Order: sequence, then structure tokens, then C-alpha cells
Amino acid sequence: MELKEYYDYLIIGADAAGNSAVGQIRRKDKTSSIGMLEMGRVIAYGACGLPYAISGTIDQFSSLVHFTANAFGIRNNTDVCIGHEALEVDTVNKKVKVRDIAGDKIVQTSYNKLMIATGAFPSRLPFIDYSAKNIFELKTVPDGEKIQNYVKTSGAKKAAILGAGYIGLEMAETLKEMGLEVVIYEALPTTMPRYPESARKSILQNLKKNGVQILLSTRVINVDIGDKVRVYTENGSDEFDLLLTAVGIKPATGFLNNSGVELDSHGAIIVDRHGKTSVKDVFSGGDCAVVYHHLLDKNVFLPLGHTANKQGRITGMNMVSDDIPFPGVVGSQIFKLFDEVYAMTGLSMEEAKNHGFSVKEVSAQRTSRAGYYPGAEKIKMSLLLEENTGQILGATYSGTIDSYGMIDTAAALIYARAKASDIAWMDFAYAPPVAPVWNALISAAGKFNFAED
Ligand code: NAD
Repeated sequence: MELKEYYDYLIIGADAAGNSAVGQIRRKDKTSSIGMLEMGRVIAYGACGLPYAISGTIDQFSSLVHFTANAFGIRNNTDVCIGHEALEVDTVNKKVKVRDIAGDKIVQTSYNKLMIATGAFPSRLPFIDYSAKNIFELKTVPDGEKIQNYVKTSGAKKAAILGAGYIGLEMAETLKEMGLEVVIYEALPTTMPRYPESARKSILQNLKKNGVQILLSTRVINVDIGDKVRVYTENGSDEFDLLLTAVGIKPATGFLNNSGVELDSHGAIIVDRHGKTSVKDVFSGGDCAVVYHHLLDKNVFLPLGHTANKQGRITGMNMVSDDIPFPGVVGSQIFKLFDEVYAMTGLSMEEAKNHGFSVKEVSAQRTSRAGYYPGAEKIKMSLLLEENTGQILGATYSGTIDSYGMIDTAAALIYARAKASDIAWMDFAYAPPVAPVWNALISAAGKFNFAED
């Protein structure tokens, strides 16, 4: 697609936030011109599904791709210019300098309204050569294909993962399922520091049970790369067939230097609840931007796929004519590790204390179905409640996939500022094959009120 000199709406980044915005812009405005710049070649893909395409649970990578650039362009009457990287934004003259990667030339376009939806890049460690054949990171479909291809063709038997965050843990499961021995290196003394201690212990037991080794308080300080990868820590070294780094992400906002668009301390674009940045006619949303936190009543950097879709959609509507404030996130997140699911919403204990709340944690373990019904599994809910009022500020779930909806219920209760006294008697559905009378959420809330099990 040839980039035009001018667009009424120009969107930089063609994934979750950018595509959601374009869908709404075109729905509300049938005639204006829309252009999209995308440095990659694959757009509109479900990055969160990558570990499952690598393992083969999802049979092909193309299943993760919702639209090709061409199909998305036709559907939304939009110029989707893949292989085009924004290099500089001049917000005074409303111009964007662009690298046409395939054509190997610098071109320029201009806009009336601009949305920056560039997402985030995986953070890189300075001592690693990321071009080596046995070094991997996971962000894009080609990254996923590269890992799968290497595991299948190289005879790799032993993998190191740097970082026990979301990607590190999900990929530990994937690589284990593909038959590799897996060692995770984590710099912190714990995995998932925001989760309560019981959930963190359960994660460690789960890894052990499934034969994944995790080394906590073990920062990787160097690697030697040849046919094998030697990983060095303060305590020694070990050799692997491949190395995956998953040590966090950084907003892709470097090209905004000198644009006047204000960034926060993470380098994320500061937006208001309407998706407006500090510069007139420049909007943003998704992993490159901050997001409004409903409970804290302030912006936070919490880059997650489901948030990007919502922020993008609302920003697109506001870019045309609407005046809709984003209601905000409460921090819901979830991941699967082998047979267990771990999820949290709201604040962690540390965050609650840092924000001046006086809190009490209550937990309950119950069954997923009536205890006597075949297939009943253990479910644990921990609630963080404001000490004086019992207002729910946070919740953590660990248990089977079937009952994960309890964390969504908790998110809604946090949003509605419900109290333990409301939750303890709440009218949740019950039937023996599906749920018990006293589920883990009700039971935990009941403990706050009545200090009994
Ligand atoms: P992360 O922030 O979740 O975890 C990175 C981990 O790497 C941290 O625990 C950190 O202490 C560790 N680390 C950093 N440097 C290290 C070093 N030198 N040696 C050893 N350990 C080191 O980041 P991620 O796992 O890369 O995920 C990227 C983003 O994607 C996150 O924002 C995450 O929320 C999001 N994501 C979410 C989900 C989900 O919600 N299910 C799934 C995948 C990714």
C-alpha cells in the first residue's frame, strides 16, 4: 500500500489498540481518510496466544491472525501501510517522518488527528546478542515461529528462560510440553511479587510438580553464545541449547523525542481518560500509554492486551465525535500454568499499603463444585479488605480453569466498591455439578465479617 501525503486520521501501530480505534473511527465516519503505519508485516494478531501456537495446542500460527493487512484495509476503507516505521513526529506541523522499510527510503505523511498505538518492545539485556540463532524473545508471530522451528529442527533438549514473569512462566509450560528440560532464572527472591504468599508458594509447587526448575534470587549477569548458550550468574554457570529472555517490556515511544508528547517515568505516553495526550489532536492507548486506574483514581502503567483493545476502542470513538471517559481498569490479570490458573485483580498488599489503606487479608479454600460431585477441585480465593469498612480492594484466585470467573466477579465487586458484608450473602448461582453453595469468594468474605470458617 502506497502511503499518501495526508490522512484525516493517521494511526501508528496496527495491533490491538490501533485496530480497535480504526474500527470505531470508520463506524462513525464513513468518508474521511484513514491511514495506518505498521513497521511489522503481520497485523491484528493475538500475541497472548503465542505460547499455545508454539506448543501446538493451537494448530497453526495463522489462527492467531484476525486479519491480514489487506483484508483489514478493505473492511475499514483504510490504507494499511505495513513495513512502514514512524521515525519522528512533528506535532507543530502535523507531519510524520516514516521509513519505508522495503523501499529503503524515507518518506513523509501528515495528519489532522493522530493516534499513537505502537505498543511495547521486549526489554533487552545489554550482554546478549539477540541475532544469535539460539537466543529468543517473544513478542511477534515471527518470534513464535522461530522458537517452534528451532525446537523442532535443532534437537534442542535443554532451555533457559530469563525472567519468571508472565511470559517466562507461560513459556516454561510450553517448552516443557515440547519435551525440553527447562530452567528459569529469576532475579527477584520470588516469582510474581504482586501475588500473596500462598499463591506464590502454589506457583513454585506447580513448577516443581511439572519438572520445571526455578532459580530465585539469581540474576543472569552474562551469557556466552556459540552452538550452545552458557548462562552465568553470581553462583556459577550452566549450558543450554537455547535461551529465551522475558525480562519485561518497554513502551515503544523512543520516536516521540522532541514531539512535545509527555511521557511518564516508564516512557509511557500520558493520556487522559478520553485518550488525549498532552498535545492537541494527538491521541494514544494500549501498551505504549498509561491507563486510568478506577480504584486509585490516577494513571498507572499496566500494559495488558485486553486493556489495549478497550482503550483503543474508546479513543477511536472520541477521535471522531464522542466524549466518553474510559471507566478505568482495576488491574485484572490471569495466567494458566499447567493444570492451574492464577489470577488477581485490584491492589496487592504492598500497593494498598503504599496508597494509605489499612488492610486485612482473608482467604478461603473451597471446592469448584459441590464437594460430593465428581470432578470437584480445590479453589482458593484471597481477599484484601479495607480494615474498617470491609471494602474489597483486591482479590487473588488459584484453582482450575472452570471456576476462573470468580476473579471477574471480584473485579466487578471492586469496581462497585462492594463490602465484605455484601459479598458474604451474595446471590451466586449454585448447582452441584457446577458450583458449591458456599464458594471460595463468599466464604472468604464471610471470614472477614464473622471471623469463622
Ligand atoms: P514481567 O514483567 O511479567 O516479568 C519479567 C521478570 O523478569 C521479572 O520477574 C523480573 O524480576 C525478571 N528479570 C529481569 N531481569 C532479569 C535478569 N537479568 N535475570 C533474571 N530475571 C530477570 O515481563 P514479561 O514476562 O516479559 O511479560 C511482558 C509483558 O507482557 C508484561 O507486562 C506482562 O504483564 C504481559 N503479559 C501478560 C500475560 C498475562 O496477563 N497472562 C501474558 C504474557 C505477557
